[in-house]
Amino acid sequence: MVDSPLTKEFEFVSFPKLHEEVKKSVLDDPDKIVKKLKFPKPVKEKKVRNYRDMGFNNPTMANKRKLARKAHKTLKKRLPSISSLKRKADNVFSKWIRERDNNICVLKSEKCILTIQAGHLIKRGKMNTRYDEENVHALCMYHNYLDFHEPQHYIAWFVKKYGSDKYLELVERSKQIRQFKRGNFIYIIARYENKT
Ligand SMILES: [Zn+2]
Repeated sequence: MVDSPLTKEFEFVSFPKLHEEVKKSVLDDPDKIVKKLKFPKPVKEKKVRNYRDMGFNNPTMANKRKLARKAHKTLKKRLPSISSLKRKADNVFSKWIRERDNNICVLKSEKCILTIQAGHLIKRGKMNTRYDEENVHALCMYHNYLDFHEPQHYIAWFVKKYGSDKYLELVERSKQIRQFKRGNFIYIIARYENKT
């Protein structure tokens, strides 16, 4: 017997992986052998992520670390941004100031308009006096806008009411550089949200 697929006496023993179906059809009609001869596709081995391969000896530990990382990520995502906290603190503090001054412009005159805002004597850029109760008073939109160009009116009102010493103290306080972090804003929000 010659061991070749082209001969009718071909032995399949040398092709152990040949499909059973092909094998059968070839046995039935040996002439079809060249066309029908097919080998099964190689099976791709699935890549399994193994924690041991990743350098963790204890798979449970690896799971824990993975979970911790994930939790940290979500927690970080859920933390409110500094700018959103600042906005919230501004709103809460502004509301408190307006209510404290009974929604009446402290520079009350005929020119007042309806919208009341929280006007900063020393501008909001100075963080140390941004949420200072002495520095902020209710101003109508007109006077708050006027204060931007003519701050003397607001200053004069303050000096007349509280004295020049208080004003100088306020100026000194505003000079102190202060950096606000999340906690500081959260403190302001908590303090003025329910303060009456
Ligand atoms: Zn006004």
